[in-house]
Amino acid sequence: MLVVMNANATEAEIAGVVRVIEALGLRAHTMPGATRTAIGITGNKGAISLQHFENLPGVAEAIRVSKPYKLITLDLKQDRTIVDIGGAKIGNGSLAIIAGPCAIETRQQTFAVAEVVKKSGAKFFRGGAFKPRTSPYAFAGLGEEGLKMLVEVREKFGLRIVSEALDEPGVDLVEKYADMIQIGARNMQNYTLLRRVGRSKLPVLLKRGMAATLEEWLLAAEYIMSEGNYQVVLCERGVRTFAQHTRNTLDLAAVPAVRRISHLPIIIDASHGTGKNYMVTPLARAGVAVGADGLMIEVHCKPEEALSDGAQALTLDEFEQMADEVRAIHEVIN
Ligand code: PEP
Ligand code: MN
Repeated sequence: MLVVMNANATEAEIAGVVRVIEALGLRAHTMPGATRTAIGITGNKGAISLQHFENLPGVAEAIRVSKPYKLITLDLKQDRTIVDIGGAKIGNGSLAIIAGPCAIETRQQTFAVAEVVKKSGAKFFRGGAFKPRTSPYAFAGLGEEGLKMLVEVREKFGLRIVSEALDEPGVDLVEKYADMIQIGARNMQNYTLLRRVGRSKLPVLLKRGMAATLEEWLLAAEYIMSEGNYQVVLCERGVRTFAQHTRNTLDLAAVPAVRRISHLPIIIDASHGTGKNYMVTPLARAGVAVGADGLMIEVHCKPEEALSDGAQALTLDEFEQMADEVRAIHEVIN
């Protein structure tokens, strides 16, 4: 259920509704908006009577939600969510670029890439310290040592740090060192992990599972929000199809499809979405043209020596060129 407050409802009236929700043993999710505040209710096993709320002071209406989602929807919050990552924003109309190597490998590599990411005007640096690898024998990341290098990048360049956590102990570490927790495609339906990051103070970048429908993906975001963390950015990174000319099929239609349902920001990962260096820039351009709030791009100083995802990494020069191009497109469409 969803309780919509009058446009001029007072703080005390909102608090009054929250008290009634909590007294019923339920959870209240207060979402202030430009025109009105709405309060989502979760935790109910069956239907709740509308009468509990309809006559409370300040309430405009109580609405039963028939869709599987409650908190990610435009029904609850009409204004787009702006996610704040250590003061840098995603979803505020600017073009967010999250760039960096697939994996943190060495300090030299990390700093060489970070320098160019900074120079391009991007505000976010990515780099995996915990890598989910298809083969158990492949390089799985430097762990905490890698996270410490990311902290040095933040200190030196002022870039906000995005890094993936694979499990709950990993979340503890990423929380300690990074500014945003990435949940990867392989963990999109790891519900204990989703609940754990839902209790985090850090914003979450939620990648789409490689075989996830839009509804499954949005319900994964709902898991995070249901625990009280409303700072979620969706990331389309391609899905498995019969196509063999790409690593994944980048589903650009996900951007308008998400916009129709949800207030959450959505970005495009043109690197995992294609798997091929020569396709990254064209699909990044398309991602911006289709209206994404930002891009995720893998960059390496020596792609041919990369310990993971070298085939899809842009070189430093290619990345700088791409950043200029996508900014030009962003300016035109806005
Ligand atoms: C990554 O960002 O390096 C990564 C592993 O992505 P995904 O979860 O989308 O495969
Ligand atoms: Mn990668």
